[in-house]
Amino acid sequence: MNRRDMIKTTLSTVLALSTAGMANEKKSPEPKQTKRKSKPKHPRVVVVGGGWSGLSLAKSVKAFVPESEVTLVEKRYEFMSCPVSNPWLFDMVDLEFLTHSYIEAANNHGYDYVQATATGLDSKNNILKTTVGDIEYDYLVFALGIEYDYDKSTKGDKDLEHQLRMHYPGAFIPGSEHLTLKRKIENFKEGTFVLNVPSGNYRCLPAPYERACLLADHFKQNKMKAKVLLLDANNEITIKPQGFHSAFDKLYKGYLQYEPNSEILKFDLKNKTLITEFDEFTFDDFAFYPSVRAPKLLEELGLTIKTVYNRFEANLDHYTNKFVGYDNIYGCGDIRPMGFSKSGNTAYTEGENVARQIAADIQGKKHNWESPVTVCISLVSKKPHREISLVSQYKYDKKGATFFNGTFTDEAWKTNDLGKNRALFTWAKALYDNMFYI
Ligand SMILES: Cc1cc2nc3c(=O)[nH]c(=O)nc-3n(C[C@H](O)[C@H](O)[C@H](O)COP(=O)(O)OP(=O)(O)OC[C@H]3O[C@@H](n4cnc5c(N)ncnc54)[C@H](O)[C@@H]3O)c2cc1C
Repeated sequence: MNRRDMIKTTLSTVLALSTAGMANEKKSPEPKQTKRKSKPKHPRVVVVGGGWSGLSLAKSVKAFVPESEVTLVEKRYEFMSCPVSNPWLFDMVDLEFLTHSYIEAANNHGYDYVQATATGLDSKNNILKTTVGDIEYDYLVFALGIEYDYDKSTKGDKDLEHQLRMHYPGAFIPGSEHLTLKRKIENFKEGTFVLNVPSGNYRCLPAPYERACLLADHFKQNKMKAKVLLLDANNEITIKPQGFHSAFDKLYKGYLQYEPNSEILKFDLKNKTLITEFDEFTFDDFAFYPSVRAPKLLEELGLTIKTVYNRFEANLDHYTNKFVGYDNIYGCGDIRPMGFSKSGNTAYTEGENVARQIAADIQGKKHNWESPVTVCISLVSKKPHREISLVSQYKYDKKGATFFNGTFTDEAWKTNDLGKNRALFTWAKALYDNMFYI
């Protein structure tokens, strides 16, 4: 089955994701950058951020424009995957499956990797400022992923934010948070472990529900006197609701309590109590997932807007992925303001699409917008291994609303073959191979 066949709809419902993304865009000011006078023989493409989007873009632009000089600027020393990190928390894969080398990715695909943090921009002179010095570019891409928007929940209380970061990290940005959460789960003996789902277009819609299932499964398999309390700021499960609801009800009665409409409004950490609009919940342990936002660097550079989803997202043109007002600065991945799912496959395919746009710009050709593809496979239990999935593309209406387009879901975890075929691991392995090795 090819990609287009796969996304042929079996659902007649088209989910409206928003109406305001494009309406919020400011009118484009005059382009601000100064390009090199003559067309460069070896156009310099600088990609900031080596996540799912940046890696795909760096590889693709080099493939589409072999004469280009592509540089990946990434602050991390190695790649660690968020996808499949939930199964990793429960020992279903090892850390080697999730971690990969930027050096290999760059060597295998003919681009350069600079381990550095981008700190500023001189767009008039096409210079990116980094912790290892200035880097000149002809085309620049920001693929920075997300930061947490704690302020939305803590109302700017920095001490509370610090307590939450140190003691109850969410583990939705890879690294130490994940290692801490894994040890917390290993050390948890009994009681209530609280997870939450934030409001807005947060990173990876199914991940909190998948994590809740696997944690409940862990309690059940080990016959622990423990339950997961899942506090959802939304009024319903945000994706694959049939599959997750049926897993909650049929597999995890007594081990998983799901509470919709439960945004955490106050934290009483001393008494281990969380206050929502209607209730108070006590916890024995907790992993707090705040709302998300585009990184502060973009805000400082004046490159963000507020959308209906989140308070800070990249101010991108929805068709070219160029920052509004700029001709040679692009953005992709979870920073985007469009209502796409903030997920790995979406970021990866968008990276390829934006590479096509850059190649067309370099070659002076026209490029037609293509939708990214969301492939979203979630585990609902470990033993037996059971999975549910969703595949979709997107479309816009005239006002810029984002819609799912050609959505296919398989939420029948009891009878489908996804789990038997380890679809999630197969998908992830294929993308790691593509981003790093082949
Ligand atoms: C628990 C969990 C499970 C998930 N499961 C799935 C799944 O099963 N399927 C799926 O499709 N998606 C999944 N996702 C979502 C997926 O991980 C993200 O959507 C994806 O990583 C987004 O890619 P990105 O390139 O936009 O951002 P990222 O992958 O976060 O990459 C951004 C990169 O930019 C770098 N960076 C940031 N600022 C700077 C700077 N100033 N200078 C230099 N570098 C910088 C960061 O270090 C990072 O490497 C999951 C996420 C989580 C948290």
